[in-house]
Amino acid sequence: MRSAFRRTWRRVAHAYHLACARDDAAKRKITIPSGVWVCDHCHEALLELHALREHVRTRHAYI
Ligand SMILES: [Zn+2]
Repeated sequence: MRSAFRRTWRRVAHAYHLACARDDAAKRKITIPSGVWVCDHCHEALLELHALREHVRTRHAYI
């Protein structure tokens, strides 16, 4: 029960993080083509969502 809640929360937090990264890029007048993800921490662009997840997890140990 508790761990299920945690998994859901992590998903929500991650989605929020991605939305922020895109908003942030938009504010800086950077156009992100669909399918490209930009890391919110070091602004590295990654071509796949899976790659971004791995990147954030391994480089930044975020959530
Ligand atoms: Zn990064």
